[in-house]
Amino acid sequence: MSKQYDIVIAGGGVIGASCAYQLSKRGNLKIALIDAKRPGNASRASAGGLWAIGESVGLGCGVIFFRMTSAKNRREAAGAAVSVDATTPHILPKSFFDFALASNDLYPALSQELISKHGMDFKFEETGLKFVIYDEEDQLYAEHIAAQIPHLSSQVRWLDQAQLRESEPYISHSAQGALEFLCDHQLNPFRLTDAYTEGARQNGVDMYFNVNVTGVKRQGSRVTGVHTAEAGEFSCQTLINAGGSWANELCQWATDTSIPVSPVKGQIVLSEKMPKLLRGCITTSDCYIAQKDNGEILIGSTTEDKGYDVSTTYPEIQGLVQGAIRCLPELKNINIKRCWAGLRPGTPDELPILGPVDGVEGYLNACGHFRTGILTSAITGVLLDKLVHHETLPLDITPFLASRFSQQVVRHADEPSYA
Ligand SMILES: Cc1cc2nc3c(=O)[nH]c(=O)nc-3n(C[C@H](O)[C@H](O)[C@H](O)COP(=O)(O)OP(=O)(O)OC[C@H]3O[C@@H](n4cnc5c(N)ncnc54)[C@H](O)[C@@H]3O)c2cc1C
Repeated sequence: MSKQYDIVIAGGGVIGASCAYQLSKRGNLKIALIDAKRPGNASRASAGGLWAIGESVGLGCGVIFFRMTSAKNRREAAGAAVSVDATTPHILPKSFFDFALASNDLYPALSQELISKHGMDFKFEETGLKFVIYDEEDQLYAEHIAAQIPHLSSQVRWLDQAQLRESEPYISHSAQGALEFLCDHQLNPFRLTDAYTEGARQNGVDMYFNVNVTGVKRQGSRVTGVHTAEAGEFSCQTLINAGGSWANELCQWATDTSIPVSPVKGQIVLSEKMPKLLRGCITTSDCYIAQKDNGEILIGSTTEDKGYDVSTTYPEIQGLVQGAIRCLPELKNINIKRCWAGLRPGTPDELPILGPVDGVEGYLNACGHFRTGILTSAITGVLLDKLVHHETLPLDITPFLASRFSQQVVRHADEPSYA
């Protein structure tokens, strides 16, 4: 017999978990969260950076992505529909800044809420993010970024060499300075997903883990539920697709249309616990480095077009470690605790895919969060809750609708851009 729910959420990574948590807070809906725990789940692989400005201006994994690979490879890796200039930052459109910054603003209160109401601490830390400048090319790159975001100047600070050394004493003497983003912080991504999930569970959401959605039930143009391999049939009023890199399969079953979500592999190295070497998060033209609240140092991340492969590979790990030691020479003494790889749910324009699909009822997308799904999970949960309840949204999601692909809109052409 079919299990009856108001909402079924397919995918229990950080996005599905955030949707489950926000929807469960009202207490008016019967909700099921179904997750298959597939290898490569991005939320378990993430660095936990809340780099709202850094990621919007193409730093984070973007530096490696756009400066160290050829233009052809870059386009293929992301499936991007446009050519980009490798010497200038890859700055995302205004709609993404608004989305990322709105989500970032939610974290201090969300952290308090999940601790006080659910006893879950995702270790939110106010760290800032520094782009370390080694040479003239880095300097020009940083200047270009700063010039594109004058409206965020209160969140941007230039550090000369002496100021950088005072702020981060362990950084290499070869660093000439840094561009710092003051509102870009970090958290523990494992704990964030756990916190949303546990909060949702305490609010009454039913969890179905190690369960695969294998098909979608429909009546005419309405989605009415899902089939699963391990837990039978589910009926629902609304299906939320939070399937990460596997979201296209769910979308096809639900709507007979495709969404261009594809896996973009990222590898990470994690050290054993170290004494405090970093006060803030660091990004360079080679890698990013973040010391987590427990002392472990995380070095990321590659950006690779390898399908669903989640192997860890020597040349890529070596490249990350060399880049990290160049920045923080003390790291040559670290013991590596483990390395891993995960699959970012990439889209051609690097924007998420949110909301309804034309002509289909009872179905909402919450996918395609690429390299910022930890950061943007907070606002995504809020948006999906409001979409389900047909309430006014805190920001315009038109740029994130799946229909932008069927309309073959050229990337960002019809919306304001900072680039
Ligand atoms: C190396 C790396 C570093 C990153 N660093 C950062 C960072 O610093 N900051 C940041 O904001 N973001 C970062 N990201 C990106 C972020 O991790 C992702 O955007 C985010 O985790 C996506 O979450 P998700 O829930 O959409 O996908 P996932 O976490 O992949 O979850 C999707 C889930 O759906 C399940 N699923 C799919 N299909 C089905 C089905 N048919 N039935 C049942 N279950 C199904 C899968 O098993 C999976 O568990 C990073 C990613 C990687 C890989």
